[in-house]
Amino acid sequence: ENGDSRNTSPPPLPQPVKITEIKHTKIFINNEWHTSSKGKQFPTINPATGVKICDIEEADKADVDEAVKAAKAAGQRGSVWRRMDASSRGRLLNRLADLLERERAVLATLESKDTGKPFLHAFFVDLDGSIKTLRYYAGWTDKIHGKTMPVDENFVCFTKHEPIGVCGAIIPWNFPLLMLMWKIAPALACGNTVVLKPAEQTPLTALHVAALIKEAGFPPGVVNVVPGFGPTAGAAIAGHMNIDKLAFTGSTEVGQLVKAAAASSNLKRVTLELGGKNPCIVFADSDLQLAVEETQKGAFFNQGQACTAASRVYVQEPVYEEFVRLSVERAKNIVIGDPMEPRTSHGPQIDQHQFEKILALVDSGKKEGAKLEFGGCAVEDRGLFIHPTIFSDVKDHMRIAKEEIFGPVQCIMKFECQQDVIDRANSSQFGLTAAVFTRDVQRAMSVSAALEAGTVWVNCYNALHAQTPFGGYKMSGNGRELGEYALAEYTEVKAITIKLSEQLRL
Ligand code: NAD
Repeated sequence: ENGDSRNTSPPPLPQPVKITEIKHTKIFINNEWHTSSKGKQFPTINPATGVKICDIEEADKADVDEAVKAAKAAGQRGSVWRRMDASSRGRLLNRLADLLERERAVLATLESKDTGKPFLHAFFVDLDGSIKTLRYYAGWTDKIHGKTMPVDENFVCFTKHEPIGVCGAIIPWNFPLLMLMWKIAPALACGNTVVLKPAEQTPLTALHVAALIKEAGFPPGVVNVVPGFGPTAGAAIAGHMNIDKLAFTGSTEVGQLVKAAAASSNLKRVTLELGGKNPCIVFADSDLQLAVEETQKGAFFNQGQACTAASRVYVQEPVYEEFVRLSVERAKNIVIGDPMEPRTSHGPQIDQHQFEKILALVDSGKKEGAKLEFGGCAVEDRGLFIHPTIFSDVKDHMRIAKEEIFGPVQCIMKFECQQDVIDRANSSQFGLTAAVFTRDVQRAMSVSAALEAGTVWVNCYNALHAQTPFGGYKMSGNGRELGEYALAEYTEVKAITIKLSEQLRL
């Protein structure tokens, strides 16, 4: 046999797992499964088919109270978790990452069924990001340390970074597993305990991970998962007197509600990851093919249901027509279909409410005079599927240029000069992400500096890394997730000052 033959065939694609019965459907508190205190259940639906997957035990205020009690006990002074060596916490996080690798196909299948996203996207993007986030924070556990301050006279001052306590997490339906990891990995790395509420549309992967948390050996109560609705279980978390920190990802409106509830209860610390209306600026000197690909993937990835969606694309006048033409050509290759099929690149929207909201915005675009280049309607006889949609000649005053659509709609606009496009890009209440496409490094630097956004991508899009902070300017949120920056959101700083009997003589 000659050595070359090894490289001839690509590795087989991962396959979805046949799941006949969903194993984990209950409330997870103290490493045990509980039924709803009110005896209520809610269905979770597969948005690709409209068929119910299973019923889930519904957590309400009383269940949240139980979960918070468990989390508080697990994190109190003298508990197993508080006494555990920092490096052992790291080993637990790595063990959980090992279990996610073992269960990768199962989790990707559950995620795809529950959200409608293509299985291969779940397998490669959501699972990859989740595992990497866990391993990244596993490495931080024994590197979270304070400083020593050179103060005057005979004092010694130093800081310790301590866990905040019980961290509430409320997450959305668009990246259920990944958002769970963005919350629990830094929280646990810093020694906190967690009460997490998945979105009511997508509870399955959070409950499966709960089982893996127990299997990995986390002490009871360290992570608790309370599936339920926003106004009940979610509000109970936001306003809870014994939750010390809240991390929320979702809509700006609910972000405002939970921050108000946090302020009027116990002033718990709050981080918010909210909406975006993210501008991409394509200069005439850019690699146009690359810009077309990245901006379109940015617009349509996850059916446009991403806070990072590339929803405003400003293209410089000399390349505008060509950009629109190439974008339409590329959109023709998108494969709409069964999310479990490997060829499928585009699935359904999450639910009827979002489906209708998106189509209403598409209609407003048509009425306000944007030029429909591609798509622009639901897929016939396919429930919640919407055709990827491209509008050109979009003007800044139109609703589709201002409001977050959270659907597969790309808005292309023309610009002439750099200063003007920066002002237009910044004229939004949001400031989550932005992108610049140019071959001129000087321009890339000056435009990045001028953009009001927590993340600026240059010649790329959606390039997210566990090592790099993520979060919004303006109404896109407060605080940062990921990277070293997230550690500050999950620790209290204690300053210890010791008076010595005499000044140290060095
Ligand atoms: P949402 O903000 O209503 O839901 C997000 C989470 O908050 C869910 O877990 C939900 O149960 C919970 N929640 C809802 N009301 C609550 C309350 N009063 N108190 C506490 N928790 C509450 O988002 P949605 O309705 O699912 O989607 C609506 C819009 O939100 C979308 O169109 C989009 O603009 C935005 N969104 C943004 C993201 C993001 O990643 N930034 C994700 C999903 C949705």
